[in-house]
Amino acid sequence: MASLVCVGTGIGLAGQISVRAKSHIEHADIVFSLMPDGFAQRYIEGLNANVVNLQQFYAQGDEIKNRRLTYEQMTQAMVEAAQSGRRVVGAFYGHPGVFACVPHMAIRRCTALGIEAWMEPGISAEDCLWADLGIDPAQSGHQSFEASQFMFFRHQPAPCCHLLLWQIALAGENTLTRFHTSRDRLQVLVKQLSQWYPLEHEVVLYEAAFLPVHEPRICRLALKDLPDAEMDPATTLLVPPAQKLEHNLEVLAMLGLTPADLA
Ligand code: SAM
Repeated sequence: MASLVCVGTGIGLAGQISVRAKSHIEHADIVFSLMPDGFAQRYIEGLNANVVNLQQFYAQGDEIKNRRLTYEQMTQAMVEAAQSGRRVVGAFYGHPGVFACVPHMAIRRCTALGIEAWMEPGISAEDCLWADLGIDPAQSGHQSFEASQFMFFRHQPAPCCHLLLWQIALAGENTLTRFHTSRDRLQVLVKQLSQWYPLEHEVVLYEAAFLPVHEPRICRLALKDLPDAEMDPATTLLVPPAQKLEHNLEVLAMLGLTPADLA
């Protein structure tokens, strides 16, 4: 019976995929995959003989192609396969629903067509980040934004929380055709962040290991040095808190409490 399930395969090759996600891939009529490298792609191809690599929809060679068109073509390929009555799996690295629009669009479109469609979660880059950096985000709370959206819109970071900026290597890139940002754009981001954080504030460029033989990349640097830092499409920026949590005395009073009651 026609169906679409979008599964996450985790970040670390082969070891972070759930039992359910693996089983869906093994039993699918057709699998559409978006993996970070050839090793992960071959791993998926080892689980199912009928795998279509979605990377083919990105600009090839010198081609200039808007990523909106790429995402539409990826979505359409999965939806058409489901419309033809097959059991379709979309296998996406990390978590298929975290900073990934194609699985959401494909599930919505299939559901509207009356085709059963759902998502199975996966281990995201963010999950790896908390583990590798030894941070419990509950200590102060955290905020997460796509870096360009953070720049283009009036988001308000709370400098007492952890702040994650995804796709930092594309920060301020508005054409959706390039795969990197520029030093000037990163300088604008530094200026923007300096409204809330000192220029000397330590930030972290983080890359979780895709292969079990690799270590994560954890690069600590001053905020002001961000424009000259090395980063690639798999880099996430963590801005740790610059201020302590402040008691909300009004709410505490309404609860009949004082800061001493929280000790
Ligand atoms: N769905 C993915 C997930 O669950 O992690 C995220 C995909 S999003 C399109 C791509 C962004 O995720 C990157 O620009 C980066 O911010 C983050 N990312 C992907 N792989 C990463 C890795 N190995 N380490 C750290 N961040 C990563």
